[in-house]
Amino acid sequence: MEKRKCKYCGGELKKVLMPPQSDWGVEYFLICMSDDCPYYVQGWDWMMERYKVKASYRYKYNPEKDDDGPIPVKSPTDMKDWVVVQFES
Ligand SMILES: [Zn+2]
Repeated sequence: MEKRKCKYCGGELKKVLMPPQSDWGVEYFLICMSDDCPYYVQGWDWMMERYKVKASYRYKYNPEKDDDGPIPVKSPTDMKDWVVVQFES
């Protein structure tokens, strides 16, 4: 599988399995899981200022649609249990 990098921090995107009951309609996304990613770090302030909620988002890439954008998170540990550590070769 092609490896992709986060366009905000340059880190390698991780394969993150979505739960079967999720609304996303995909098996997995490629997501920047770096807690130092500026997109994610600034997201906390952005969401608090705009919406008064404690939330942020991470950069995600949808390999099925060749589409990227934010995926919301409510805590730093959101989705971390879903990361597939090894890429299939
Ligand atoms: Zn990043």
